[in-house]
Amino acid sequence: MRVVVINGGVGGARFLRGLVAIARGATGSHPLPDESELHITALTNTADDITLHGLRICPDLDTVMYTLGDGIDDERGWGRFDESFTVQHELLAYGAGPAWFGMGDRDLATHLIRSHMLDAGYPLTDVTAALCERWQPGVDLLPMSDDRVETHVITDHDGQRTAMHFQQWWLEHRAELPVHEFAFVGIDAATPTSAVQVALERADAVLLAPSNPVVSTAPVLAVPGIRDLVRQRPVIGVSPIIGGAPVRGYADACLRAIGVDSTAAAVARHYGPRRDGGLLDGWLVDTVDAASCEELASSGIEVRSLPLLMTTPHDATAIAQSALELATELAGGHR
Ligand code: GDP
Ligand code: CA
Repeated sequence: MRVVVINGGVGGARFLRGLVAIARGATGSHPLPDESELHITALTNTADDITLHGLRICPDLDTVMYTLGDGIDDERGWGRFDESFTVQHELLAYGAGPAWFGMGDRDLATHLIRSHMLDAGYPLTDVTAALCERWQPGVDLLPMSDDRVETHVITDHDGQRTAMHFQQWWLEHRAELPVHEFAFVGIDAATPTSAVQVALERADAVLLAPSNPVVSTAPVLAVPGIRDLVRQRPVIGVSPIIGGAPVRGYADACLRAIGVDSTAAAVARHYGPRRDGGLLDGWLVDTVDAASCEELASSGIEVRSLPLLMTTPHDATAIAQSALELATELAGGHR
């Protein structure tokens, strides 16, 4: 069985960790028919990427790579464990910010290698594969595109309408500034790589990770061509919203900005049922949201409820297992 997961950083990486445990046979029960092998592609958002101090930083790719390679600071959810920030402190002593973006010393090695390789002309897909040789994430980790796309927030700041990099809006301003629009700068000219196209064409199912639907999965789906390829496969999503709130981060502020309620049902309607031209065949929600999501069935979305909190890797494995079971079930009907 081949699955493509569309993901951002923390929520995506934790869900992927569950899938990888299954692929590695680290779990007792096997959810796939005939013990077939599981192959995972992580189709990852790169619209959060930013250039600082001349270095290209890809937060979501790195979060996935470090999480699956056991290099993550699990408490923070991003960056390396056992991290220090000496270089950043030295830069700040020169007045060279920003202070709001944490750039650790260990992490810096990743950014240096990536930037050198990009400068030498290697596409981001190849650079990512080279970095993954160290981390052995157990998935094909693919950026959504080799072309540069950056989310900017059209907001009001100091009494002026201004465009701000998403990271500044999120980290410095904690998503508190008003949003007129999220602009995926460069998206219209971006193309999916051949690796992304092949992975989607060969996939038995596409899984939408419990990632931020507005700034993580949306840019991936907005790369021209990707959404159409995704819709040719059964699509199962996992809700990032539990009991009316995101588990961490400010997805509620992002959803509010595009007029979507922070509920599991509203996010499902936002992705849309396949029948109405949307994406979803299946939707996993937390048990606390089961009743409020019952009505989705009438729109043709198969809903399953189970605990969706990924506190331990074991929790994520159970969620991944349910997603695969639903995918297998729906793939049968899809053919
Ligand atoms: P980011 O790029 O680091 O912001 O990460 P993602 O976009 O991949 O994931 C962020 C989303 O993950 C947030 O909206 C959270 O609500 C969601 N999330 C984080 N932890 C969990 C969890 O344990 N369970 C579920 N269902 N969602 C989670
Ligand atoms: Ca992100």
